[in-house]
Amino acid sequence: MKKILITGAAGFLGSHLSDRFIKEGYEVIGMDNLITGSMDNIEHLMPLEEFTFYHHDVSKFVHVPGDLHYILHFASPASPIDYLKMPIQTLKVGSLGTHNLLGLAKAKNARMLIASTSEVYGDPLVNPQPEEYWGNVNPVGPRGVYDEAKRFQEAMTMAYHTYHGLETRIVRIFNTYGPRMRFNDGRALPAFFWQAMTNEDITVFGDGSQTRAFCYVDDLVEGIFRLLFSDYSQPVNIGNPDEISILQAAQEVVDLVDGTTSKIVFKGLPKDDPKVRRPDITKAKEILNWSPTVDRAEGLRRTYDYFKTKINN
Ligand code: UDP
Repeated sequence: MKKILITGAAGFLGSHLSDRFIKEGYEVIGMDNLITGSMDNIEHLMPLEEFTFYHHDVSKFVHVPGDLHYILHFASPASPIDYLKMPIQTLKVGSLGTHNLLGLAKAKNARMLIASTSEVYGDPLVNPQPEEYWGNVNPVGPRGVYDEAKRFQEAMTMAYHTYHGLETRIVRIFNTYGPRMRFNDGRALPAFFWQAMTNEDITVFGDGSQTRAFCYVDDLVEGIFRLLFSDYSQPVNIGNPDEISILQAAQEVVDLVDGTTSKIVFKGLPKDDPKVRRPDITKAKEILNWSPTVDRAEGLRRTYDYFKTKINN
């Protein structure tokens, strides 16, 4: 049985990836230090013999006994309010954590895929963003701790690939949503759902004209699965190119939530908030034969169904 280590396994993406690899017949080792992840997300996996959980911070030396075939490095605070609260840990998991895991991958001769991000493009000056775009990042701004850790992570991973010949894959993940996001993680969609479901004001930052393109989590997981088993070691964007304004996203949530009396209000725009963002997915289409299949109306309905189960917990 092939063995895969998934870091950040108790998080939003890590837990969905754990589900997928269990379903595909892999032995999954989930690792998480639970600073933003939650055991609720993997509770259903805990009784399984094919799943083992290690409560561990991958910024410290990582030990895994026996064979290991694949590593997916998904541990990191990943929303602006989380990495503002935990700037040093965010920098460490992207840099020291990545280095530890690359060392482990080398020792085990495992293939390693890292979760990079559209944030490597910063506040982009081209739209949509192709992988060849180098980005417009402020290293000392509030988002710098995340953006620069992820940029370092890509550089380090590429160095292990070219210098040590390690098998590596780099996915650049654009805004993703779906079940298991935390209501309070500070991201736009969970914040809007929480506000609409509790009849609070919907806080749109700025005038809401900034854009994002939201990908449903199942589509993202499929793209990552295909990338891992491809032979392509350059970065690949995975995201849904359906770009909308944040004001429109807020309106769609209000329209979806039954009986809400919430009104949209406008708050200050956070520093360095990207004005536009949209993936160019030409590479994913050509190399992985991947494109998203869940449209936003459907994805938001599924996400709403999940949040309904969480509102009283
Ligand atoms: N946003 C907002 N209200 C909120 C939370 C976020 O208007 O309560 C905006 C935020 O300023 C950004 C967009 O929604 O322009 C997406 O923010 P998110 O935190 O989801 O992710 P980002 O793409 O900025 O990393």
